[in-house]
Amino acid sequence: MGRVPADAGDADAVKHLELAATEVRRRAIQTVGSAKAGHLGGEFSITDALVTLYLEVMNISPEAVERRDPERDRLVLSKGHAANALYTALAVGGYIHPGALRTFLQPESMLNGHPARNKITAVEANTGPLGHGLPIAVGMAIAARVDGSTRRTFCLLGDGELQEGSNWEAFMTGGHHRLERLTALVDRNRLQQGAKVEDTNDLEPLHDKLTAFGWEVREVDGNDIAELRQALSPVGSGKPVAVIAHTDKGYPVSYMRDNVSWHHKVPTHEQVEQALSELDAILARLTEEEK
Ligand SMILES: [Mg+2]
Repeated sequence: MGRVPADAGDADAVKHLELAATEVRRRAIQTVGSAKAGHLGGEFSITDALVTLYLEVMNISPEAVERRDPERDRLVLSKGHAANALYTALAVGGYIHPGALRTFLQPESMLNGHPARNKITAVEANTGPLGHGLPIAVGMAIAARVDGSTRRTFCLLGDGELQEGSNWEAFMTGGHHRLERLTALVDRNRLQQGAKVEDTNDLEPLHDKLTAFGWEVREVDGNDIAELRQALSPVGSGKPVAVIAHTDKGYPVSYMRDNVSWHHKVPTHEQVEQALSELDAILARLTEEEK
């Protein structure tokens, strides 16, 4: 589908991204169904953010990635277990060949269970061990400043992942250096691997904590593309931006949504079919609206 056309109005841009997000989810669930492994719940919660970033907000193109243009914006997927959603968004954006998705988790594939930058040019950092992405992104943002560059750095984090102390060192450093071109998006789906975040190690009051660390905090519905576009737009406050994206794990599939068991579960053939029919209904509605 590629990027949102530069001359698109707001309504057309949202529609383009909603179609892309639905297409990413359709392909992602088929990939996991075939590979018999994956992390669909946490992938579906960030799909809207991934397409909004890669297909519109980020100053990036497949050509810029290929030639390692130093001015390209960077994205670090700290919740690396959501790799399949990243790969699928990259395929929809033209960064990897769509046919490669069929090789997910296969021997010798470049599509590992967690993203590997030595295998995929568009992947900016190896991630998977949680709590490492934001420290890397802070380093990238400092490097951009040293370079005198206006490029932006984005980091997508899980909420359960914020229990890792390394994130708070990175929040402190980002705030201290007033890295205004750094944006951390927290996928606030309230669930982690096998339990509620609040029952495991509660994060609240998260907004206040991030503010206290020197960040501008924006809270949005993270499954609403119109809100995401606004929250991810450039800033001017002189502070790094933390977007608390309130999402549902498994969104929008009825049997998966807000259900903790879908962290790492593999859908049956019937469940794949049901999800596809629900996603097809969304596509039909979006396409109908277009006429
Ligand atoms: Mg979570």
